[in-house]
Amino acid sequence: MPDKPTVAMGLLSGCFGCLTSFLNIADDLPELLEKIDLRRTPFNDLKELEPVTVGILEGAVATDENEKLAHEMREKADILVALGTCSCFGGIGGLRNLEPVAMVLNNVYDQKVPDDSDLPTLLPKVRSLESVVKVDVTVRGCPPKAEDILLTLNAIISGESLKEHSRNLCNECPRSKESIMISQKGFLTEGVRAVMELETIDSERCFLEQGILCAGLVTVEGCGARCTTNNMPCRGCYGPASGVHGQGNKFVNAVSCLLPAGGIMFQEDIVGTGYRFSLAADTHFNNREE
Ligand code: SF4
Ligand code: SF4
Ligand code: SF4
Repeated sequence: MPDKPTVAMGLLSGCFGCLTSFLNIADDLPELLEKIDLRRTPFNDLKELEPVTVGILEGAVATDENEKLAHEMREKADILVALGTCSCFGGIGGLRNLEPVAMVLNNVYDQKVPDDSDLPTLLPKVRSLESVVKVDVTVRGCPPKAEDILLTLNAIISGESLKEHSRNLCNECPRSKESIMISQKGFLTEGVRAVMELETIDSERCFLEQGILCAGLVTVEGCGARCTTNNMPCRGCYGPASGVHGQGNKFVNAVSCLLPAGGIMFQEDIVGTGYRFSLAADTHFNNREE
């Protein structure tokens, strides 16, 4: 019987949510652990990284330590998996790329920035794992679904290829779309409504048709529309749909055709809405001189 594939996991700048999702494999975890030889994980806190078949990294590359681990894991792993949206696109932490790093630190620490040589140094920009080293497999989601992590690992073990999603989330969203898919001469709705008004909205009808911003148009399918089926608009955590470069730009572009521009301008944080998870992966923001 051939040796079991060895697996190592590591943490970059993330929140541990993706690795917690790995633990949510729950009932199927014992069977998975029969098939793999799980070596280094943040749970056993082994410091050494030996050569492995599969390396899995959660989190974005935001510090010098992250960058070092990303290169080390790439060197040691035959197959490198970017686990979760931070790893795939930079995630929410990537929003710090809107400001120079010194300004971010001063804002957070109110001018009293810690100055200890033991602390990791923040990189000027948060980066996705893929923009630092070659990634072989991505598992999207903030956090990814446990079943997707299991599916991915099983596919890697058995050598099967994984299904690539290419359509947008609206394709799997069950909310009724009476107007959004049909060319209109006018706007779909007069104004933009806040999510706080959710109790007054139709829970079965497309959010955008009711003036509530939803990123489903520019987000790839695959999550099973887990927010919109629970009466929350999509914020794009699975990242851009196929052919969408600049998820936030495309989001504004798309909703501008459906809603009056004035309504969108009054949104407090349109960049943080459209680019909530993928700003670090957008070349427009990240090639900018500081
Ligand atoms: S993708 Fe989401 S759950 Fe995973 S590390 Fe980033 S913030 Fe946490
Ligand atoms: S815009 Fe949002 S609510 Fe409307 S169909 Fe697409 S995913 Fe569903
Ligand atoms: S509906 Fe959107 S925000 Fe929610 S899990 Fe799916 S992709 Fe992520």
